[in-house]
Amino acid sequence: MSSLSQFISDLASGAVRVVDLTQPLGPDTPVIGLPEIFAPSPGLSVKQISRYDDDGPGWYWNTITMGEHTGTHFDAPVHWVTGKDLPENRCDTIPVGRCVGPACVVDVSADCNADPDFLITPDRIEAWEAEHGRIAGGSWFLMRTDWSKRSDPASFLNVAADGPHSPGFRPDAVELLIERDVLGVGVETIGTDAGQAGGFEPPFPNHTLMHGAGKLGLASLTNLDQLPATGALVVAAPLRIVDGSGSPLRVVAFIEG
Ligand code: MN
Repeated sequence: MSSLSQFISDLASGAVRVVDLTQPLGPDTPVIGLPEIFAPSPGLSVKQISRYDDDGPGWYWNTITMGEHTGTHFDAPVHWVTGKDLPENRCDTIPVGRCVGPACVVDVSADCNADPDFLITPDRIEAWEAEHGRIAGGSWFLMRTDWSKRSDPASFLNVAADGPHSPGFRPDAVELLIERDVLGVGVETIGTDAGQAGGFEPPFPNHTLMHGAGKLGLASLTNLDQLPATGALVVAAPLRIVDGSGSPLRVVAFIEG
């Protein structure tokens, strides 16, 4: 039997399961807040075209409007100025093969529960590697924070007088992941940088360094607590928007058992 035939058979038998890493997307889906001097990104709005009525007696459909970076979404390298001139850096030109890869899932949920500003460090990543093996090139690096369990938007955004507080990456941790040649990182928070990352050096290190290295981002994932540390296969392919900087998407993981 070929490996793909085996995979299809394992899917049918339940030996391989599909886990949905995607949040529901609706008008109440929170969007990232920016300082008022910058243009905001709109959340999702839905306008009905017809619903089995005079505008279309046999069919139902809607018009949707939203920013590209809404809900569970994909960040292309062109999203950041550091990635703007790279080849194959947009939603329509990234080879689809780069959207599929094994997942390395690092559980820092206890740290984030204790400290919402928790930042993952190279030491923490290397400790994970000592237990699970070196991160292979072409892997998705998924940071499990359990932040997706914050179902209330205010708690999810966690904005205080001095700005948002949510976990993320220390710059040297991003550098290590680039060295490992990951496909990109995936997080449960609204964006792939920590809430306070605007004040880091460099600012927004994950966006600045990862996209500058041609790597991808996945934000607002959920169900990372259902994944093993290694052994899951993740498919995260954005809409093929021409010149797109990112897109909402359905992210799925295949796991054993
Ligand atoms: Mn984004």
